[in-house]
Amino acid sequence: MNSIPWHILGAGSLGSLWASRLFRAGLPVRVILRDAARLEAYQAKGGLTLSEHGQRQRFEVPAQTLGDPEPIHHLLVACKAYDAERAVASIAARLASGAKVLLLQNGLGSQQAVADLLPHARCIFISSTEGAFRDEDFSVVFAGQGFNWLGDGRSSDAPDWLATLARAGIPGEWTPDILPRLWRKLALNCAINPLTVLYDCRNGELRHHANEVKGLCDEMVVVLQRCGQSLAAEGLHEEVNRVITATAANYSSMYQDVAQGRRTEISYLLGYACNAAMQHGIDAPRLNALRQRLVRHLASRGLPGD
Ligand code: NAP
Repeated sequence: MNSIPWHILGAGSLGSLWASRLFRAGLPVRVILRDAARLEAYQAKGGLTLSEHGQRQRFEVPAQTLGDPEPIHHLLVACKAYDAERAVASIAARLASGAKVLLLQNGLGSQQAVADLLPHARCIFISSTEGAFRDEDFSVVFAGQGFNWLGDGRSSDAPDWLATLARAGIPGEWTPDILPRLWRKLALNCAINPLTVLYDCRNGELRHHANEVKGLCDEMVVVLQRCGQSLAAEGLHEEVNRVITATAANYSSMYQDVAQGRRTEISYLLGYACNAAMQHGIDAPRLNALRQRLVRHLASRGLPGD
């Protein structure tokens, strides 16, 4: 098992964080880059750099392009949600039968799209609370300790390779409830992140918009219940308030994306919730109005609304 390489698709923040830790633990790792130009840029840097506890360390993790012929048995998809399906499609022919495909994407929608593309692979969804950002190309700062919940939504038995992640210092646990966890994270995101963009504020300042937050939570609870996600609906408003307080000084991930002129994952978060409401015939005026305001705001900044 330990001699089977881990292929990491996307050497961005989380991809580099996972690749560095697996490589540091002595496991065979390959990062997969878009094309020859990105591979050349990577080689010029001499590998991946990980900054952790104020220390910078470089790891000469082997890299390859999408077109490399090496078969893939263990794949970690570390692209943004809006890139995942296309990126996986371009390496689908390289996947061995029964390959494990770990999906790190935030929100919902992209995981199912990838799973539909790969009927012969075992797709595993991850809900991660770890935090990392790129300080330069192929260099990542491990900014927030967290945890990874993994599951395939079906089996309750943890796969044996999970111990490999633990040995590499990647904290994680198997859960039969991965979908409720992903839904819950999506719901928290819907109630907090878009408002921080629209009010141009840190999470904590949403205390001044308490009615709006509560209205969004109330609608989200109905959506979750109708989608069969009652577990994810339980105590949502209370948890949103706890998160707002606990992360009061932070800027949300969506806020940071917009501030840095990067495309957001709106279609897989608030957009996914609005579509789910529509499919279930639920009137969700607050969530829909929020989506429209956000899309207008993104357009005014030259950013896509999907
Ligand atoms: P990121 O830093 O933007 O990295 C994404 C990487 O995917 C980039 O390096 C990009 O390549 C690469 N990529 C995109 N399309 C590709 C393709 N066709 N072939 C090869 N590589 C491709 O994103 P991230 O912050 O790591 O986020 C990844 C996912 O994890 C997101 O869904 C995010 O919401 C979730 N997440 C992130 C964090 C965090 O702290 N960062 C925490 C929890 C969850 P280029 O470099 O060439 O553009």
